[in-house]
Amino acid sequence: MNAIIYIYMFITGIVLGSFYTLAVYRIPLKQDITHTRSYCPKCNHRLNFWDLIPVFSYIFLGGKCRYCKEKIRPRYIIIELMSGLVFLLFAMWLNIDVFNIEYKKVATLVFGIFFFSVIFIVVGIFKENKKIQRSVFNFGIIVEIIYMVYLYILNTSIYRYIIYLPIILFITLMNNSKKINERNKLIAFFIFILIGIYEICLL
Ligand SMILES: [Zn+2]
Repeated sequence: MNAIIYIYMFITGIVLGSFYTLAVYRIPLKQDITHTRSYCPKCNHRLNFWDLIPVFSYIFLGGKCRYCKEKIRPRYIIIELMSGLVFLLFAMWLNIDVFNIEYKKVATLVFGIFFFSVIFIVVGIFKENKKIQRSVFNFGIIVEIIYMVYLYILNTSIYRYIIYLPIILFITLMNNSKKINERNKLIAFFIFILIGIYEICLL
């Protein structure tokens, strides 16, 4: 029965992976990521539904644009499959029981989806532009804080949050200061990842 959840999470991961490639391409260009239909970056031809099915379209079209035959970078299919795999492993680790759904696990699942999305998009943009996208990172920090507050309300001692608070403040400053270079932002981002993983493990 749990196999259904795993298949569902794998497909969700692949669909999100497809969104990440689009976000990585469009966010640095300041283009809209939700409303504009996808198009081929070479010939600008709008892509139809059949060109946009993650993984399958790539295989079916032989890794080429249907209209101009420009090669599609294999990066797209790699990111889609990687994201599918990450979400599959995450679901397996959470071990959600369909017959006995625990809201704590669902909350962690929702946080995890946002958390991994931010990582995929920030890393993707960094790989392309050698730059950490400030807005995406800030979004991640906000999501992390919300989950942190949730965990705090749920149980736990206040002491951990006394340690967390300056760290979160530090990475927020690192991300938003004009004087900070990309290397230091990378360190801040690494701390962000560690905190997020630690919070997920607190479940
Ligand atoms: Zn094309």
